[in-house]
Amino acid sequence: MKRKFKNDLRLIGGILLVAIICFILFFATLEPGDFVQISVNGKAIKSFDLNKNTEFEIVTGENDEQINLLVIENGYAFIKSANCPDKICEHHIKIKNSGETIVCLPHKVVISIESVQYEN
Ligand SMILES: [Zn+2]
Repeated sequence: MKRKFKNDLRLIGGILLVAIICFILFFATLEPGDFVQISVNGKAIKSFDLNKNTEFEIVTGENDEQINLLVIENGYAFIKSANCPDKICEHHIKIKNSGETIVCLPHKVVISIESVQYEN
């Protein structure tokens, strides 16, 4: 009986160890990116240097009625304001790591952090 308990502990310890290693690997691969890529409707339209503070109005829609204000500040990118109905993009946390994205579904706008710059 005691022996079985010990084995259980070992199993739990093993699972925990694997979980911790996965956790560390996940965060170790998070690296700050260098560029902010803007895509509209799946097409890359513009990219910015993540290390230069700037503001850019992403204007989309048939009559240019959809607006997302992208702000790059101190190495972070975020949507400062948007006139989309759900405002999910506006409430998204600031992003800075390569591979992170902010998506505005209603406007079909994707902001992503990249480590390489694509052609504008
Ligand atoms: Zn939005």
